[in-house]
Amino acid sequence: MRKCPRCLKDYAERPVISRRDTKTEICTACGLEEALVDLIRRGGRQLPEIVQRREDRMVAFIRRAGR
Ligand SMILES: [Zn+2]
Repeated sequence: MRKCPRCLKDYAERPVISRRDTKTEICTACGLEEALVDLIRRGGRQLPEIVQRREDRMVAFIRRAGR
């Protein structure tokens, strides 16, 4: 089991690489969500609060890891 640093859930499937730093391993659901977030932002729309929170957590994690 791995723990996803973006959504904090444990997952057993193969990790995917975050597009936020192209290094950090995250769960498949978060990988898909990151792609969706980029589309939403490109469209100039606001993210749902829960999604924004996961994005903020990911940015903080990357900063803490010094990547
Ligand atoms: Zn996740």
